[in-house]
Amino acid sequence: MSTLGILGGGQLARMLVLAGTPLGVRFRVFDTVADACAGQIAPLATAGWDAFDALEPFAREIDAATFDFENVPAETAAWLTAHARVAPNARSLATAQDRVLEKTLFRECGLPTTEFADVATRADLDAALARIGAPAILKTRREGYDGKGQFRIKSMADADAAWEVLGPQAATRGLVLEGFVDFDFEASVVAVRSGNGEFRAWPVTRNWHVNGILSASLAPAPRGESIGASAFAHARAIAEKLDYVGVFALELFVRNGELLGNEMAPRVHNSGHWTIDGAVISQFENHVRAVLGMPLGDTSARCPSCMLNWIGKLPDRDRMIAIPGTHWHDYGKSPRPGRKVGHATVCAPDAATLAARLEQVGRALGREAQVAPVIAALGMQA
Ligand code: AMP
Repeated sequence: MSTLGILGGGQLARMLVLAGTPLGVRFRVFDTVADACAGQIAPLATAGWDAFDALEPFAREIDAATFDFENVPAETAAWLTAHARVAPNARSLATAQDRVLEKTLFRECGLPTTEFADVATRADLDAALARIGAPAILKTRREGYDGKGQFRIKSMADADAAWEVLGPQAATRGLVLEGFVDFDFEASVVAVRSGNGEFRAWPVTRNWHVNGILSASLAPAPRGESIGASAFAHARAIAEKLDYVGVFALELFVRNGELLGNEMAPRVHNSGHWTIDGAVISQFENHVRAVLGMPLGDTSARCPSCMLNWIGKLPDRDRMIAIPGTHWHDYGKSPRPGRKVGHATVCAPDAATLAARLEQVGRALGREAQVAPVIAALGMQA
């Protein structure tokens, strides 16, 4: 029996534990906080990321280690790599931690990105804005997630305000200015690569964000076949370049049928949560399989599925699960504004039934605004 260690004990770790346990895998979780929600279902060790005396007994108990969180410090990943088998590798983590390295890699692999410029000083911001133009987005290079660490610059006059908010982070996290992409829609590819180079990807997923946080995902993306082959080829090229092992997500903007790379997540990803209920083998199970060297499983979709994120607090569970085809996932977290506390996936035999079920969800939970864009996209498929 193998024991897998997970650095980071949030909902992704929790869902890895839930998926890997039937395979006979045991888990150990490491986090900096004692109430990390994966700790409710697996042994949790708590200490700072640089507490190597606490990481040592953790490393001794495990056969391999992986991450539910990409911002584990590079020194911690390096220390762990010297003490255990770690996947994905430290290079993948370091690349995905930094928006400039990430976009540079995308371009090297032939995936276009929006224009971007590294910004270290106020003068750099002015020069970058002069080159890229407004609208643009100033982001922290590192440690930004769910829309945090971003400032939208609508016109040149916003430069002062952007610098006031993010300038203080230039020295610690670095900054990058990105051209604003007027995309038709957002999509992602969640893919898995094994240690012997086998590559598989789930169908392209269409995503909707609200305030920079994922709100809904629809898979397979309607008309996704038109971008699927190109998205898979880019994901594969990136994974091969990094010698990546495990699941990762490539987030894309789609404009006039063309793909632009936004970012990659070196881990299981929120836009792949639908795979638990809507795919033959989920992203969580395949990640465990890849990291522990087991054969990979089928990434096909079983049915059209829509994942709805619950942000801040959970809606009424019983109203939701009374709707056919609905699967509920409570992360066991206490409510807090902006926090991902759970999700539900609605599955259906066909697009029209999925749209009808989502209408029911909208009415039953008062969440018409969350489901409306998904219903509209499903309508386009007919
Ligand atoms: P990120 O943290 O980079 O994934 O950004 C969160 C969300 O903000 C994205 O999913 C988009 O909805 C939006 N966004 C980020 N960067 C851009 C961009 N360059 N142009 C337009 N929208 C963006």
